[in-house]
Amino acid sequence: MGTDFSTQTIHAGYDPIEHGHAAVPPIYASAAFDLENALRGDALASGQAEGFEYSRVANPTVDALEQRLAVLEHGIGAVAVSSGMAAVTYALMCAAEGGGRIIAPTNLYGASVDALGDFLPQFGIHTDFVSNINDLDEVASKIGPNTRAIFAETVANPSTTILDVEPLAELAHRHGIALIVDNTVPTPYLFNPILFGADIVVHSTTKGITGHGNAIGGAVIDGGHFDWANGRFPQFTARQQVISDDRTDQWHSFAEKFGKAAFIKRIRIKYLRTFGAVASPFNAYLSLIGLETLPQRVAQQVASAKAIAEHLSRSPHVIKVNYSGLGYTPQYELIGKYFPRGVGQILSFLVDGDANNVRRIIDGTRLFSYVPNIGDARSLIVDPAHITHREVPAEARIAAGVSDNLIRLSIGLESVHDLIADLDQAIAAAY
Ligand SMILES: *Cc1c(COP(=O)(O)O)cnc(C)c1O
Repeated sequence: MGTDFSTQTIHAGYDPIEHGHAAVPPIYASAAFDLENALRGDALASGQAEGFEYSRVANPTVDALEQRLAVLEHGIGAVAVSSGMAAVTYALMCAAEGGGRIIAPTNLYGASVDALGDFLPQFGIHTDFVSNINDLDEVASKIGPNTRAIFAETVANPSTTILDVEPLAELAHRHGIALIVDNTVPTPYLFNPILFGADIVVHSTTKGITGHGNAIGGAVIDGGHFDWANGRFPQFTARQQVISDDRTDQWHSFAEKFGKAAFIKRIRIKYLRTFGAVASPFNAYLSLIGLETLPQRVAQQVASAKAIAEHLSRSPHVIKVNYSGLGYTPQYELIGKYFPRGVGQILSFLVDGDANNVRRIIDGTRLFSYVPNIGDARSLIVDPAHITHREVPAEARIAAGVSDNLIRLSIGLESVHDLIADLDQAIAAAY
């Protein structure tokens, strides 16, 4: 089979011969699967045989999506979950459970800031925030004996700040710490963090991957090159009942039983099985269909986003445009290194005036949907300070560049001329 990205978005992880020769992955709407006979049932339950038992742990439609995403991100395995936030929290908890610490910027998706700063501490997981995740000295100064992971977004939402993944991964690995990245904004078409040293990649598949704004979903993907038995992660070296057999007195830890796949196995066998944020087969099917056109959609959206960013930077009432793809930002070198196909379909801009002008612009657009989402076939507009970053404390909101006169756009697949004309008329009418 071909190995190019646009071939794999259509074919990877699915073989029609294994599915009644169905050309398109079928929706397996079945909670459970026939164990066939006692011998096979025992082998399946003990993990000695491969196969499906119960859809909370694995399902054939979901499995096709998982395998495809693992291939597209150059990972050794993936677990699909019911939302991007399930992917973020499962990955962070799996790395830091039992009193670990995480290092992260405040420049993150709103619910992730809330998780790290306010909610995970309730479970004994604390975060040391940094003001600039690309400042290696600042990051290094936060590393302590309990640090387990560094977490950041490869392209931050809504600032589009780019993460310098490679030196950060090197710093993390020198200290035996894992680098976990949220690659939602660029999608695997624009960037593959594992190729630059990231250990774990999480996605909200709700966004560009599914691409049509019709299904909430997420995924955790394991690069398979991190040593979870290096002494910093007792959860991976302690023996665990769920992967052992007390009748034959064979005891295992995740690291010993699964080696380099210990992390993704723990996500499935502990987190998915226990916390249960399972991807539904129908949503996995929508994501698989969406993936088929990922390269074509994102390529057009990036071209349109760039044209709109350029147009807005010359528009009256626009004070500043945040779009790393504009070519003259300080991050120009990082784009050349990591993002030859562009940085994505998200951009944001600051307007003069106050929140009333922002409201009038949003209400005045006719083509843009006023929606707290990104990566849709439709173009979307939102005021992050009031909607997507509402749960973020003011200090962190300002650090993320989210002020009251900021507007975020997610560019869809409409004609770029129509989109520009719509923004122009809405801005003109707002003053
Ligand atoms: C949307 C988003 C999430 C959360 O995903 P859901 O599917 O809405 O749970 C996490 N990270 C980023 C960068 C996002 O844009």
